[in-house]
Amino acid sequence: MTVKLLGVPYDAHSSFLRGPALAPVAIRAALTCGSANWCTESGLDLDPATTESWIDLGDLDLSDDPARVADALRTVRDVAAGAIADGSPLLSLGGDHIVTWPLVQAVSDRHDDLTIVHFDAHPDLYDHLDGDRFSHACPFARIMEEGRVARLLQFGIRTMNPHQRAQAERFGVEVHQFRDWDGGIPPLTGPVYVTVDLDALDPAFAPGVSHHEPGGMSTRQLLGALRQIAGSGATVVGADVVELNPTRDLDDVTAMVAAKIARELLGVLITMQR
Ligand code: MN
Ligand code: MN
Repeated sequence: MTVKLLGVPYDAHSSFLRGPALAPVAIRAALTCGSANWCTESGLDLDPATTESWIDLGDLDLSDDPARVADALRTVRDVAAGAIADGSPLLSLGGDHIVTWPLVQAVSDRHDDLTIVHFDAHPDLYDHLDGDRFSHACPFARIMEEGRVARLLQFGIRTMNPHQRAQAERFGVEVHQFRDWDGGIPPLTGPVYVTVDLDALDPAFAPGVSHHEPGGMSTRQLLGALRQIAGSGATVVGADVVELNPTRDLDDVTAMVAAKIARELLGVLITMQR
């Protein structure tokens, strides 16, 4: 199967700053800017001029009217479902983190017993944030309420609060707080979906995000975790990279980090097909 790349420019319910709707364009620009080659660190060449291992579906056209959020998320779910209907894995470039909800709806419709591996400074388990159930602080509450996912493992977490701790216990979320993390990924089985919120990284590595949360992961720690997931024996069937906010970036450094992670995730998804 050919891995499919999809841009999801959506930030209408970001709680603090808009900007992640600009991310797909910024990540594509970083992917194609010519300062890096198309190879993954394992040496897999993803140059679109010479490989048919992946294709770019382009960006969705989504309303940025906050009142039309249900329509926008339905479009994300339906387009994602269409993209994976032939068994293809999907890599999505966000958007803020609410887009992971409809993406996981599509993937979990196709794959029973899905495990989600989630990298983030934040658990994103709020029942609502200031009354907003579509906030980018809520996607994993929405996902776990639907009961379609077998496991949710979180890494990079350093903003846990009592409400989200209660939500994590309610949903059986495996929270690996970053201050206690040894760099390891527990054994994984079955289909796996990987979601990378770039604020999992320390702001020193990824300043172009809406919520700077110091004390985070290095780029190398995240890449090491992705490598462990790829070698775990589980099958990675989908992934996303979310929460790049180009309006906060410095010299496109975070866009370049996002492009690097996207390239590595493309490599993981392609390798799973072999
Ligand atoms: Mn998030
Ligand atoms: Mn976050």
